[in-house]
Amino acid sequence: MPRDPIVVVEPRRPRAHCAECREGPLRRMVLRCSVPLCLDCVGLGHLVYLPRGDAALTRRAREAGEVWAVVVRHDRRRTRYERQGILVEEAALARAEAACLADAGARARRRARDAVRRAASDVRFTAAVTAEVRRLFPGCPADRAAEIAAHTSARGSGRVGRTAAGRALDERAVTAAVRASVRHRDTEYDALLAAGVPRRQARVRVAPAVEAVLASWRR
Ligand SMILES: [Zn+2]
Repeated sequence: MPRDPIVVVEPRRPRAHCAECREGPLRRMVLRCSVPLCLDCVGLGHLVYLPRGDAALTRRAREAGEVWAVVVRHDRRRTRYERQGILVEEAALARAEAACLADAGARARRRARDAVRRAASDVRFTAAVTAEVRRLFPGCPADRAAEIAAHTSARGSGRVGRTAAGRALDERAVTAAVRASVRHRDTEYDALLAAGVPRRQARVRVAPAVEAVLASWRR
């Protein structure tokens, strides 16, 4: 059963004194039937303050302790209270901090494992694309095939996963990648674009040269 939190009020201008021990003016107080009491007199003097802002730490600190209180302050027009933070047992806060740290460590370790797995899958994927380029274009130099595969993998593998990898390995997709590479590397395509020739026109102009290279690599 959820415990109702004790509400500790933080007045904007401390004026009130504790009705029991006369301590004051009180920076934080509990109101019992509108009567101000200091935290010591209500048995909360041992609690430590945790400002709001870290939701996970706040939740854990609340759950780790027996006693906690919510600290509120009147907003300017005194129409409502604003939560400032909580008061919790010091040991509970320490346990909560340790749990959050352990969590952060676990997340970092998982990120590192994921990165290793992704890198390995990228290597396997690049090798598969290289093999496919070499199967379709036996005349394509090995280092060129590897370069085309690396370029394709960088766009297709780790980020979008198996479907894209499968698509990238598709014969048409591999041929398109090889064709694009030849267009940029073995023809005047880039120079034409740089000279202001429209893309479509440049493609048409270099198409025979591209197809000639592809034909020589197919043999
Ligand atoms: Zn008191």
